[in-house]
Amino acid sequence: MSISSFHPPERTLMGPGPSDVNPRILEAMSRPTIGHLDPSFVQMMEEMKELLQYAFKTKNALTMPVSAPGSAGMETCFVNLVSPGDKVIVCQNGVFGGRMKENVERSGATAIMVEDAWGDAVDANKLEEALKANPDASTVAFVHAETSTGAISDAKTLVELAHKYDCLTIVDAVTSLGGSPVLVDEWNIDAIYSGTQKCLSCTPGLSPVSFSEAAQERIANRTHPVQSWFMDLNLVMGYWGSGAKRAYHHTAPINSLYALHESLVILQEEGLENSWKRHMDNHLALRAGVEAMGLGFIVNEADRLPQLNAVTIPDGVDDAAVRGKLLQDYNLEIGAGLGALGGKVWRIGLMGYASNKTNVLFCLGALDAVLTSMGGKIESGVAVRAATDYYSK
Ligand SMILES: *Cc1c(COP(=O)(O)O)cnc(C)c1O
Repeated sequence: MSISSFHPPERTLMGPGPSDVNPRILEAMSRPTIGHLDPSFVQMMEEMKELLQYAFKTKNALTMPVSAPGSAGMETCFVNLVSPGDKVIVCQNGVFGGRMKENVERSGATAIMVEDAWGDAVDANKLEEALKANPDASTVAFVHAETSTGAISDAKTLVELAHKYDCLTIVDAVTSLGGSPVLVDEWNIDAIYSGTQKCLSCTPGLSPVSFSEAAQERIANRTHPVQSWFMDLNLVMGYWGSGAKRAYHHTAPINSLYALHESLVILQEEGLENSWKRHMDNHLALRAGVEAMGLGFIVNEADRLPQLNAVTIPDGVDDAAVRGKLLQDYNLEIGAGLGALGGKVWRIGLMGYASNKTNVLFCLGALDAVLTSMGGKIESGVAVRAATDYYSK
């Protein structure tokens, strides 16, 4: 055997996630592993719930991290809230709404699709039409921040509509949490899930979730058992619930939870509102540079996510070659377009720890150099200046 330890290259991660991890979080992760029922670990779990309640702006008692990535948080919401025979209205305006449909159908329910163009926000009028046409629907699901396109939808209005027609709501906040306002209690969201590797700047592999009292009631009153043993919240709460004596359900990912705890402490130190503002500020600087270069965005200004910028690819360059050169020569990762947007856009992430002035200027400089060297039809040499002008305003 000649295989030795793996040492990854040092990259700057400015794609759709994972995003750069704060070194404080990596340090927290390397602390000693203890037992998952150790009293000090249990105390850390209680703090974790409080920190997540802060991040989600909720008092929901059922707020905790699922021991698996964002996709598992998504599945946890669907398998617990949806029963066979249910009708679920799914708003789709990108890749992740399509996965919601899969989850609905695999839960034995019917998905009523409300479709919007990729790059658009979810249209509340279309949702209301679907609610009127399907009075027997039980649930509405939508993606708050579509990472595949960079569009943000008006969660408050969509949830209000769903409730007007007696539906509970499932909201994907994987990319919005920490980067844009997510007000779970004020907006009355029933079930919400997120991920650790986007605006929380943490390592991938955990999915914070939160459930309202109405959602908890539906879960407690199910007549059909949750199809997934691992994700059945009635069982998971034996470990994560407070009050009751904690019992073994699965071995918690101890060190990953240290990492999430640290990332939430960092978020609390900065302050949620300051974090939202920082994400917006760096987005506007990047935008100044991108537009000076002569490139555009696919999302309308009003619906643009600050943490995920879908930027049009200029004529005359090869998408994959540009991304390859950025990675090879600059150790810089940006994202490719997904699905219908493949080859049409790059997805430049400014998420969490990666959302900073240095990264914005670095990315614009590297992109400018690579595009110019490859003969891309852009305005060369002006992007960095446009961004610094923005910052000095
Ligand atoms: C990244 C992402 C997911 C999936 O999260 P994983 O951690 O990759 O499983 C789900 N929804 C949205 C909107 C995302 O951006």
